[in-house]
Amino acid sequence: MRRRWFLICAATLTLAPASAVACDKADFPVLVDVGHSPAAPGAISARGKTEYAFNVALAAAVQRELKSRGYAGTAGLGARAAAQRASRRSGPIRASGAKLMISIHHDSAQPRYFETWTYQGREHGYSDRFKGWSLHVSQSAADPAGSLRFARLLADRLKARGWPFTRHHAEPIPGEGRALIDPSRGIYRRDDLAVLRSSPGPAALLEAGVIVNRDEELALDSDARRAAIAEAVGEAVDRFCEES
Ligand SMILES: [Zn+2]
Repeated sequence: MRRRWFLICAATLTLAPASAVACDKADFPVLVDVGHSPAAPGAISARGKTEYAFNVALAAAVQRELKSRGYAGTAGLGARAAAQRASRRSGPIRASGAKLMISIHHDSAQPRYFETWTYQGREHGYSDRFKGWSLHVSQSAADPAGSLRFARLLADRLKARGWPFTRHHAEPIPGEGRALIDPSRGIYRRDDLAVLRSSPGPAALLEAGVIVNRDEELALDSDARRAAIAEAVGEAVDRFCEES
């Protein structure tokens, strides 16, 4: 009896340090890709702000969070690289040697759902029909299993903060019809995105929320929300690194 107790404890002791030392944060470079560019800024929010501006601000918060957690090799595809078209980012992404890539975006909706309103004297398009984040992973790129594993870790941490994910990309209409490969976590399969295909390792694209939704735009355009999303990313990266 005493011998069995010893064996169980020995097994526990050998497992704990192994998982703790598995994550060498200083040697775990994370690439934070800023979606779109000043010349092609992506979606336009309900109040006329570009998606690119949202992406720059959130990507900066994510980079700060990861560096504060010890991921010294965290890098962004900065202003110069981000000014290039997505197709031209493939080279820098491949060359980055990143062990994980996160591409930062903010979401829109199909034109059929748009209405107009006047904000500060100007007319803008909006759609309050959809709200929430979503995650997109390729299943034909370098590490499909790793990409899905990271997306699940991040999805769980976004859900834990009480934020809903959106299902509108699965609607069977032109421009959508994406496969929701984890329906309980808002993870879509996207094999068509060059930015995900270029990654040398696991990669996920985060649509942080719907900026054409008037209420969600206000929430997303706050330092508090950006910091909370960045913290969720940091927690997910910690867990992913520990399990890698
Ligand atoms: Zn985008």
